[in-house]
Amino acid sequence: MTRFLATLLASAALCACLPLRAHAELDVVSLKNSIEKSVESDYPKLEALYKDIHAHPEIAFQEEKTAAKLAAEMRALGFEVTEHVGKTGLVAIYKNGDGPTIMVRTELDALPMEEKTGLSYASHDKTVWEGRETFVAHSCGHDIHMASWVGTAETLVGLKEQWHGTLMFIAQPAEETVSGAKAMLADGLFTRFPKPDFGFALHDGPFAYGTVLYRVGIGSSNSDSLYVKFHGRGGHGARPEATIDPVMMAARFVVDVQSVVSREKDPSEFGIVSIGAIHGGTAENIIPDDVLLLGTIRTFKPEVRAKMLAGIERTAKAVATMSNAPEPEIKIIEGAKAVINDPGVVGMAEKVLKAAFGDKFRPSPPGTPSEDFSEFVNAGVPSMFFNIGVYEPERVAAARAGNGSQLPVNHSPLFAPVPKPTIETGVEAMTLAVLSVFDQHARGQ
Ligand SMILES: [Zn+2]
Ligand SMILES: [Zn+2]
Repeated sequence: MTRFLATLLASAALCACLPLRAHAELDVVSLKNSIEKSVESDYPKLEALYKDIHAHPEIAFQEEKTAAKLAAEMRALGFEVTEHVGKTGLVAIYKNGDGPTIMVRTELDALPMEEKTGLSYASHDKTVWEGRETFVAHSCGHDIHMASWVGTAETLVGLKEQWHGTLMFIAQPAEETVSGAKAMLADGLFTRFPKPDFGFALHDGPFAYGTVLYRVGIGSSNSDSLYVKFHGRGGHGARPEATIDPVMMAARFVVDVQSVVSREKDPSEFGIVSIGAIHGGTAENIIPDDVLLLGTIRTFKPEVRAKMLAGIERTAKAVATMSNAPEPEIKIIEGAKAVINDPGVVGMAEKVLKAAFGDKFRPSPPGTPSEDFSEFVNAGVPSMFFNIGVYEPERVAAARAGNGSQLPVNHSPLFAPVPKPTIETGVEAMTLAVLSVFDQHARGQ
């Protein structure tokens, strides 16, 4: 079987210069078919796992039960599993002879929000987060990623005659707070365990199931949190001349900070600043002492990020100066860095995925959300991060044409992937991506 895979991938590689394209693509398609059959027989178990995790989500660093469920699955497949890496994270290793170590990551965490999908397996669970009781929901689809991750592990173990090396399957906590990857690295992910030669991760999104989107280079945005506190002098709403009004400063800042985006940043470069919270004041006739603003800053390139941060800081200080107020408190808290997809890794997987998925595997522009998978990449693991769709293709087409209702995106309380085709595509694409790298390595390329 090793020779079978090697032969068909070799013919795929040759197809650029020899008229073998149809033959090579047919071969990869038949490999995809045999993976499909294996996924089909595993599917009832994967669906039960998916629905169980979906109905009982856990929030960042609380994912004890979720991690235990995955640990049991991986042990049953013959992986050596270490729990509590980076608090609630999981590392599962499967050694199968000499070859590279390939990391496949899933996230474990859900979101502090109420699910409103009405699905039979919807979450009604609550937890306490940051001192408040909140609903919890898998509205980012990390449950799809977990089911695909277990399915990929099972498929690769079933195909172990076809590859040699080490699988390093990791389940990361707290992706939504972009702190779980750092926690795992700080807990010795790449020192207590083998440092992977290559890495893969996937994320689902509101486009057609069966579709796989990828990109070389920048894959997601840099994210920074903004905290600005304007200090004024409180007093009576009817005596503004005796006060320094921080509500006025906050209002000016919210509007003027957008000129950093529209007048200072190169319009052809990506950059966003959004103010998501304003906290200040208690009553209609009291000018408060201070007002706090919270926001998020998203960019792709470091030089654009530096320019934006400088402009935002200058605008906040200028606004305070205009009101003759003391300097504002400004904190910019560094969040996730952009995920940079390695051209070499993408190149290896691209050939096979293109042959298997045809025009349903296609490049797409970088996404504006952020992702702490970048921590692993920046720690020296050349990687590929790709996206899979979750909705019926007809619904997506209707929404795009304006004939259907808007499709709920990730983090919407209505986000509801169609499980079977989504999980199957996740398993097939990830299995083929991993096999493509093992195969290229085995042939010394
Ligand atoms: Zn999310
Ligand atoms: Zn997510």
